[in-house]
Amino acid sequence: MKEVYVDNNATTRIAPEVKKVMLPFFGKLFGNPSSIHRFGEKVAIHFNAAREQVASFLGAEPEEIIFTSCGTESNNAAIRGTLDSYPHKRHIVTTAVEHPAVLNLCHCLEKQGYEVTELSVDRLGNLDLDELQNSLRDDTAIVSIMYANNETGVIFPIEKIAQIVKSRGIVFHCDAVQAAGKIPINLSALPVDLLSVSGHKLHAPKGIGILYIRKGSLLSPFLIGGHQEMGRRAGTENVPYIVGMAKACELAKIYLKEEQIRVRKMRDRLEEALLKLISNTRINGDRENRLSNTLNISFEGVEGESILLFLNKYGIGASSGSACTSGSEKPSHVLRAMEIPYIFIHGSLRFSLSRYNTDEEIDYIIGKLPPIVSRLRELSPLWPVKV
Ligand code: PLP
Repeated sequence: MKEVYVDNNATTRIAPEVKKVMLPFFGKLFGNPSSIHRFGEKVAIHFNAAREQVASFLGAEPEEIIFTSCGTESNNAAIRGTLDSYPHKRHIVTTAVEHPAVLNLCHCLEKQGYEVTELSVDRLGNLDLDELQNSLRDDTAIVSIMYANNETGVIFPIEKIAQIVKSRGIVFHCDAVQAAGKIPINLSALPVDLLSVSGHKLHAPKGIGILYIRKGSLLSPFLIGGHQEMGRRAGTENVPYIVGMAKACELAKIYLKEEQIRVRKMRDRLEEALLKLISNTRINGDRENRLSNTLNISFEGVEGESILLFLNKYGIGASSGSACTSGSEKPSHVLRAMEIPYIFIHGSLRFSLSRYNTDEEIDYIIGKLPPIVSRLRELSPLWPVKV
């Protein structure tokens, strides 16, 4: 059966080149990079090179990179570590559209007595920088704002945000999990203090993340134990995955420009065809200011889940922002924050492409989706929509 994977903001397939460089570390190269004997030394060479490669990908120094287990850990380490370092500051600023790895952590911290300001977004998913400016206080410990949104692909103006936050001397953390590998990140020119990346969003395996910590940042360690990762994250390093992550970063750097153009073309063709072929359809998110791989689209009067089930029958893997798709009970908090009408939120789908998608796959989706929506609308009590 034909299979088409267009859910790359959820996770990506492992690049064959990444898998290849990892394999020796499940065999001969098993040593602990901290050991001073030959078994450790042989591994340490690759481990150190991996850190340098990741640093170069982000425009950072190797000492500013620590390896974690995932984006969620990086976000938790950045926020909790900063709060521990500034115990007298009890205010956090974030946005209403962050990933749960930030938002749910903030809700948990609220229960522990921290005050959290969630910045709003407009109907296109953009932030109001005046609102950010006005939210900053003397007791603000950290501002945590994502680079690009995982559901809509909307990109926040991180450089301007960082300037505003740093002009008040406040720590700035950026969740760049969806941005890394899709837009260039150069931390030597971006005044961000802390930045999170996750391997499985850029064709490395699940279970590896990066936390960038700008030199001189005060950050209490999240995992306490041995001396690994310059004392900032204890635990024997996951060398095979770290080496794989470095290769994924190298590939991302090589393919980024070409990918942005080719993937955007495929995404735009899909978007234009669906808008043309299916009535009462809308795009969610700022079309001029999005990741080139992401399409969040709503079909009025149908349930996103039902569409997904039919797409799945045809071998197409996408995702929905309506409800219950990722085990969540509520419709997308991102689309709600954008005040998208409920009738559209319920019929929302996200297609997220990668360099492995082809034009032929896009044609396949364009062929299958319109009849699915028509059929579901015929059966839907919500259709035709009464005005
Ligand atoms: N932040 C964003 C924006 C994400 O999209 C995700 C995953 O979807 C995460 C954080 C969490 O990353 P991980 O799955 O590596 O924990």
